[in-house]
Amino acid sequence: MIKQSDKDLAAELVKRGHLTQAVSDQLLSGIENSSKSLKDHLIENNTLSERVILEALSATLNLELIDLKKISVQKAVLDKIPVRFAWYFKFLPINISDKKLTLATSSPLNIKFQDEIRVHLGLEPKIVLAPESDILDALNKYYGLAADTVDKLSKEAEKDESSVFKTDVWIEDLEKQTDDATIGKLVNQILLEAYKQRATDIHIEPYREKVRIRYRIDGVLIDANIPPAVKELLPSVISRIKIMANLSIVERRLPQDGAAVVKTKEQDLDMRISTIPTPRGESMVIRILPVNVRLLSLERLGLDQKHLKTFRELVKRPNGIILVTGPTGSGKTTTLYACLNEINSPDRKIITLEDPIECEMEGITQIQVNPKVNMDFAAGLRSTLRHDPDIIMVGEIRDLETAEIAIRTALTGHVVFSTLHTNDAASGITRLIEMGLEPFLVASSVEAFVAQRLVRIICPKCKEEVSTPLLEIREEIAKSLSMKVKDVKIFTGRGCDYCNKTGFRGRTAIYEMLLISDNIRAAILDKQRASFIKKLAIQNGMKTLRQDGWQKVIDGITTPSEVVNITMKDEELISLKKQGIEIPKEETQKSAENKRAEKQSSENKKENVSVKVREIDPHILSSKDTHQDARTYPRVNVSLPLRYSVVRQDKDNPGKIITENVEHSSITKNISAGGVRFVSGYALRAETILELRIQLHDDERSIDCLARVCRVEEDSMSAMFSVVAYYLDLSSASRVKLDNFVKAKIKEKEQKQ
Ligand SMILES: [Zn+2]
Repeated sequence: MIKQSDKDLAAELVKRGHLTQAVSDQLLSGIENSSKSLKDHLIENNTLSERVILEALSATLNLELIDLKKISVQKAVLDKIPVRFAWYFKFLPINISDKKLTLATSSPLNIKFQDEIRVHLGLEPKIVLAPESDILDALNKYYGLAADTVDKLSKEAEKDESSVFKTDVWIEDLEKQTDDATIGKLVNQILLEAYKQRATDIHIEPYREKVRIRYRIDGVLIDANIPPAVKELLPSVISRIKIMANLSIVERRLPQDGAAVVKTKEQDLDMRISTIPTPRGESMVIRILPVNVRLLSLERLGLDQKHLKTFRELVKRPNGIILVTGPTGSGKTTTLYACLNEINSPDRKIITLEDPIECEMEGITQIQVNPKVNMDFAAGLRSTLRHDPDIIMVGEIRDLETAEIAIRTALTGHVVFSTLHTNDAASGITRLIEMGLEPFLVASSVEAFVAQRLVRIICPKCKEEVSTPLLEIREEIAKSLSMKVKDVKIFTGRGCDYCNKTGFRGRTAIYEMLLISDNIRAAILDKQRASFIKKLAIQNGMKTLRQDGWQKVIDGITTPSEVVNITMKDEELISLKKQGIEIPKEETQKSAENKRAEKQSSENKKENVSVKVREIDPHILSSKDTHQDARTYPRVNVSLPLRYSVVRQDKDNPGKIITENVEHSSITKNISAGGVRFVSGYALRAETILELRIQLHDDERSIDCLARVCRVEEDSMSAMFSVVAYYLDLSSASRVKLDNFVKAKIKEKEQKQ
């Protein structure tokens, strides 16, 4: 028998022109013997949209169809209706008055739940219509994310506490795949919601009174809408996540780190999980990393045209180091990935060393650095070189050893991308030298320092011009960008649903690119301070982080406070302007070229900041007092395999040194922790810089360093040359190793005698 309500609905849909009479008859006879309503049948088969059907139902049943986004529900109403009840029957309570409950549902013909409301709540239901998806969204909004699961779990916990809280029992439960509320489902809902909100991290923090769950969205922590009852479930939630990440659930007193992969409909998510013990329980941070790269390209990074062009030229150089600098969370890795994407092609071998691997990239060998098994950046870099890569990305340069190998790699004809933890581009230079690198090595290997920060993008849906912006800010912007104060327009986001009321949606980067030009190279060799180098760079035409930020402010991309929060005032720029020194403005390509030509023709003219570009001679290369006299270390006559290549000045590019590709094999005559004497078939000139590899033991990696030839003698017997060289950049670990080796050999010889 066909229900009257279905007949009415079918007639209304025909009347509205959504169905033909023939189709309508066919549909009705089709459901005649099923328990399904016409509405469910139409929706399941995608015949008509829910909205069209609801509009028709609204007419036949004389019920109002409302937009839930336009109403708000009092907390008193929500408190009266149990969460489980609302979730189970998928309705949203809207108002209670005179024992009448106004509720929104998409199934007005479901009589059962209306009876339940009468019986259990003693209220008379008054029905209004709304689409099911709107109702579920509203339930999330009002009752909190995953409220139904939490509520059910709390009830179960009351019934049988052991089933939820005793972990050994609980693991058993987890294996069961049921539709019931489980901790697993709750955890999944927390993770999925984080992903949907574009969160990069989830913070779970227990306090005395409550549990705080926060999502980091666009770099800012935002409270997740979680029912307070989660507090009771926290140990189980933490345990569940620990199991996913293969961590010990018994160990709660020590920090732990792990990883897990979860799936969403769109893609897999890689999660890095770390726990730390706190007095109120374990605190957990989950980092969410998308496994597949959303096509990262340089265009999408937020580079302006000039920066983009410079960057393109930079990443295509045949060798050298490009360092991206900035604090944690400034998007450095994203920039590196975009660089690799730009140059990734089948004829190039690219290897990365990362901790962690944030995105998997096709055609690139990615290596996870793991210090626990002695695979740190330095060790990884060394073994990477045996795989003959063209391009290497090292996640971060943290120590001298990594820096040294990175530089040697670059000098031997590779491109190296890496990151440094410094505030601006110029400080990158001083940081490397502070680590203990020779200035000439920095000057000759690094091509560019790129500093970057992330700023939030004003929400496009609620963006508006600020009517009365602070004069002070407008003046600073005008001065910084050399424009008129009245032309400075400032925008902001009012805050809407699309942006979680924050006024921002998404982030973009601001940049500062310091290219190692000749005058900067000379300043590095002179061990000049970062502020001096920054001034030079500004005169060379570098746009500072702050300036790039201001540009994005007047372009209406971000707000002044975003820029002020993360960049420093350009004291260098201000002082240059005070001195009346002309700063190059945004140049067109042509004028830049003209300028370069001009500069070359008048090379000897006095520069504003007086650093003379000079030829690097070997005396500069050998730093004055850092190398040790070999004689302060004990020396032993011993034959060890040794390889060397000659490091020479680049003819086309004075001020740069490169390593010749030929490697010569030789044998040591004597060795100490300060230097080495070896045989050579060539008469090497004194002061020549060599790259040395000394093999102390067959089964160990060689000791690699640069050395300076200080004496060459012809051996008349063998017609060979005997070369004495001092180490230049031997790491202290290698020096100790060499010294111990020599001392052991000496002892050995004494015992033989
Ligand atoms: Zn908005």
